[in-house]
Amino acid sequence: MTAQVREPEGSTRQPERVLREVFGYAGFRGCQRAIVDAVIAGRNALVLMPTGGGKSLCYQIPALVRSGAGVVVSPLIALMRDQVEALKAFGVRAEVLNSSLPPAEQQRVEQALNAGQVDLLYVAPERLMQPRMLSRLKRAEIALLAIDEAHCVSQWGHDFRPEYLQLGALAEHFPGVPRIALTATADTRTRNEIAESLFADGCEKFIDSFDRPNIRYRVQPRHNAKSQLVDFIRNEHAGESGIVYCLSRKRSEQVAGWLSAEGLTALPYHAGLEGDQRRAHQDRFIREEGLIVVATVAFGMGIDKPDVRFVAHMDLPRSIEAYYQETGRAGRDGLPADAWMVYGMEDVYRLRQMLAESGLSEERQRIERQRLEALLGYCEQSECRRPALLGYFGEAHAGGCGNCDNCLEPPQRIDATEPARMALSCVYRTGQRFGAGHLVDVLRGKASERISGLGHDRLSTFGIGAEQPAAFWHSLIRQLLAAGKLAADPDGHGGLRLDPSARDLLRGDDAFRMRQDPVRKRAGKRRAARAEVEPSAADQQAFDSLRTLRLDLARAEGVPPYVIFHDATLQAMLAEKPDSLEALAGVQGVGRHKLEKYGQAFLDRLRDL
Ligand code: ADP
Ligand code: ZN
Repeated sequence: MTAQVREPEGSTRQPERVLREVFGYAGFRGCQRAIVDAVIAGRNALVLMPTGGGKSLCYQIPALVRSGAGVVVSPLIALMRDQVEALKAFGVRAEVLNSSLPPAEQQRVEQALNAGQVDLLYVAPERLMQPRMLSRLKRAEIALLAIDEAHCVSQWGHDFRPEYLQLGALAEHFPGVPRIALTATADTRTRNEIAESLFADGCEKFIDSFDRPNIRYRVQPRHNAKSQLVDFIRNEHAGESGIVYCLSRKRSEQVAGWLSAEGLTALPYHAGLEGDQRRAHQDRFIREEGLIVVATVAFGMGIDKPDVRFVAHMDLPRSIEAYYQETGRAGRDGLPADAWMVYGMEDVYRLRQMLAESGLSEERQRIERQRLEALLGYCEQSECRRPALLGYFGEAHAGGCGNCDNCLEPPQRIDATEPARMALSCVYRTGQRFGAGHLVDVLRGKASERISGLGHDRLSTFGIGAEQPAAFWHSLIRQLLAAGKLAADPDGHGGLRLDPSARDLLRGDDAFRMRQDPVRKRAGKRRAARAEVEPSAADQQAFDSLRTLRLDLARAEGVPPYVIFHDATLQAMLAEKPDSLEALAGVQGVGRHKLEKYGQAFLDRLRDL
């Protein structure tokens, strides 16, 4: 044994050893090592890493290596509680201080801090900046200050927290203590705001790739949202956890109802629910397995659940940023996960109408319109989705990712100049006030009282598109709308008019190419495409058996199952089939503490499989 092993807790320790012995991981990922080194050396760091990239270890390891307690500022009490729970399971002395704690408990934590028995202390920002708290911390030894979800400092962002602005003063309160700020928000403006408000004394910037290779991105035209969603979940994610996003409260209730009626466990989550109920639903999502939450955007930020296997969008999100953040909640554990979305013309109507009614200034509306265009462009994209998604954050990607719908089943692009002219001309001749349904009827020459009553059966465009099915025309009109050749009436009735930019196309001076929507098929084919990663029935049974053991242990301790072991660790156990505690110690995610606590139970179960 080397001398280091006999060193007392809290003294200088090798980061690799802490990573291996405490967390059970073989090596650092991406920028982690460089960040950890910088902070251990006492330098400030600004860390930009996608969700699931492994930000937590960037401050947890330095906190364990440096002497004193690492103070972590985090905006949400639920998140702090979950992280402390997870750290304790690794044998790390983590504590939380927030206003919801009973006084006796607060005293216990403060005493432990003074006695140097705390490795990581989680504090809410408003609490941290109280004079009493500051003086208490100044008396203790502080290893570092970590500011999680640092984008909360941005006044332009959706998660702005005024208390975060005060955190800039930490530099003066704790001179010589390194600070590390972390966020998964990628845009440059937020980045600069964080650096300006939190690091007047400068910092090193670490920017990781924002690609999430394990997420499979898919966008489908909406035909029958209900059966599309049910098929998707049943065929690809039976028994797994997921989030379904909807735009409104009403819709979230409705969709949760659909799924429940199908025998799936689905709970709504939106701002219209009582606080208690919201908390209860969130808690069940975290603590149970295979639960689906149908949510408005109010759900997600405070959730660190690593095994969310899919994120489904029933409505278009607000922007590409929002889409990226929301889909990013899938697959934090690095295992395959799906980002799945259905999209249709109604979304475009609704979002454009909401914008027109928003009361925003002309300038802001213009910016928002551009964001919407970018999102529509992403939806109608017929090549690899990753360059479009990452390009939005200024990151280059060569395409051909092999893990998006367009790479897996490349859509056909056809020249649709002629049909596009027919559709535009039909919009013009019917007076630029009808929606897609009526336009398609006219184009296909449908005989109806409504059409003859309006005299639309006498128009030159009546029946000129009869040889194409209605689905073709709907798809084309949607794509003309997405491309900005058509504009939706702001009154919200779905009336379409020509955009001035359509003129060239109408005159024959411009061409239009369209993406052919894939032929609708049952999900069987998709299964086949995934066969290479699809486990056999026996493997599935073995995995389920380990999951059951994990759930029993989790229930007994009152913690979420993933706090015992992540899915990735269970899978690694099955792959490596350890037959002794030493062998089990080599499996990723099995640190010393967990080995002692759960090792034998899992070995016994593995032996019985
Ligand atoms: P973030 O906070 O960036 O969203 P986390 O810190 O929660 O990400 O880490 C995401 C997942 O990756 C966790 O399950 C974590 O245990 C795992 N992880 C992080 N770093 C490593 C590593 N070096 N080796 C293996 N797994 C890691
Ligand atoms: Zn791709």
